[in-house]
Amino acid sequence: MNKLNKVLLVLSIVLILILIGTVYFFMSKNYYIPDLFVRGDIEEVINLKESSNFNQVEIEHNDKKIKVYKLENIINKVQPLSTEFKLVLSSSDELRAEIEGNELSESYLNFSSGNGWEVINLNHPISSNIKLLKNITVVTKEPNISESMTIIKRDENIIKTTVGQLLTGSYIHRPILEGSSVLTDQSQSYSVDIYLNKKAISLQDIVNEKIVGRTVLFNKNGETIIYRDGFLELTNNQINYYNPENREKLKNIAGIVLDAPSQSNKDVFYDSLYYLENGHKVLVILLDGFGYHQYNYCMDKGIIPYMEGIDNSSLAITSYKPVTNTGLAAVLTGKGPQENKIYSRDFKNIAVDDIFKIISEMGLNSVYMEGNINILNTSIDPILNPDLNENGITDDEIFKRTLNELNGNADFIFVHFHGIDDMGHSYGPYGEKTIEMINKTDRYIQEFAQNWPGKIIITVDHGMHSIPNGGDHGLVVYQDMFVPYLITDGGLKDE
Ligand SMILES: [Zn+2]
Ligand SMILES: [Zn+2]
Repeated sequence: MNKLNKVLLVLSIVLILILIGTVYFFMSKNYYIPDLFVRGDIEEVINLKESSNFNQVEIEHNDKKIKVYKLENIINKVQPLSTEFKLVLSSSDELRAEIEGNELSESYLNFSSGNGWEVINLNHPISSNIKLLKNITVVTKEPNISESMTIIKRDENIIKTTVGQLLTGSYIHRPILEGSSVLTDQSQSYSVDIYLNKKAISLQDIVNEKIVGRTVLFNKNGETIIYRDGFLELTNNQINYYNPENREKLKNIAGIVLDAPSQSNKDVFYDSLYYLENGHKVLVILLDGFGYHQYNYCMDKGIIPYMEGIDNSSLAITSYKPVTNTGLAAVLTGKGPQENKIYSRDFKNIAVDDIFKIISEMGLNSVYMEGNINILNTSIDPILNPDLNENGITDDEIFKRTLNELNGNADFIFVHFHGIDDMGHSYGPYGEKTIEMINKTDRYIQEFAQNWPGKIIITVDHGMHSIPNGGDHGLVVYQDMFVPYLITDGGLKDE
């Protein structure tokens, strides 16, 4: 090896050592990087402190070239629930700026030891460049009900809000005891209580009135809980319910029903068994998609003279999600989705005994009349009624077939009419064809009654609300959640 090569080798080694030393020096300096949460009306919450997998770009700012994150990339990653949103940028010294979600093309995030997290908006007024940034909250501007938490009463939807809106409004910090521990050192013991500060809003403060009567909370999974004090807790992208007294909790609230009726369509199960045990035959008529508000309207207009004559009528609540599978399962099992495991249209296998199973164990006969498809996997097969005359409705076929069964040996007949729901979807809950269908159904029921020597229970799986071109259901709105519940006797008394 010649002299030059030796020198180069030594030089290279020295350079490598210096490089390693430098990297080591900077790493061991141990910057404290504060949290920066991207939260609100989004799918996925991120803490920028922990997410380093965003590409950096170089921009010129205050005559310096700096490497920054593109805000747009970060917002795309968290998946805002709506395309129409704003960003609320708030700092640890309580400064706040709001920018439009669709104007982020020249907005960047920078971290420096001096300014902490800092947003740099090249297109916006300089006052939007917030330093010591603590939270970026995505707030949906005009949230749909399905993206919101709703609070409803029996005949009114009173509140529609989102976690983003609540996080940027006012709430209090409530210290909640998380746990205690004790350290014992010879004769002395030292204890510590650990508290966690929860962001809390009382239900009273949101609705601006005292909470009286029965209040029911539903979450997005179809779980439900009865409200007993406690508060709403805001997490980074959910609204939870928490009661510190008994530690009851329900995560991800979809809606809250104030002054909820104690009667529900689950009562069909218990009422039917009660009548059967007492020697009555029972006919249950389930009117798909006939909300209490439609029932009320039709009563007023004289459209349902038979049902109008039934005195034993009440307003009942259905289960969430107010769709056919969930409502039907609640009626057939007397239990909500938490127990029967029918949370939405995606579920068919009932986790508990259905009414048909219990009736057969009593030594009695059941008949189950359906439309053209099997909705749930029930313990007896339904009699399916295809649309033979191709008029788009199966109710006429169901009607004829059921009339034959009424004189048979069944102790319990369950009839599921679909026409009101079909028309409601196509023409809206008050559409002319929907109202005609309701009227026709009333006449079907009347004819059943004249031929049935037993009890009759009429109820509904879920209601129906208006949408621009028809109707739909599946939300915590009074139109979907409240249904009629009627009990009467057939024309021929079974003495
Ligand atoms: Zn339905
Ligand atoms: Zn429907």
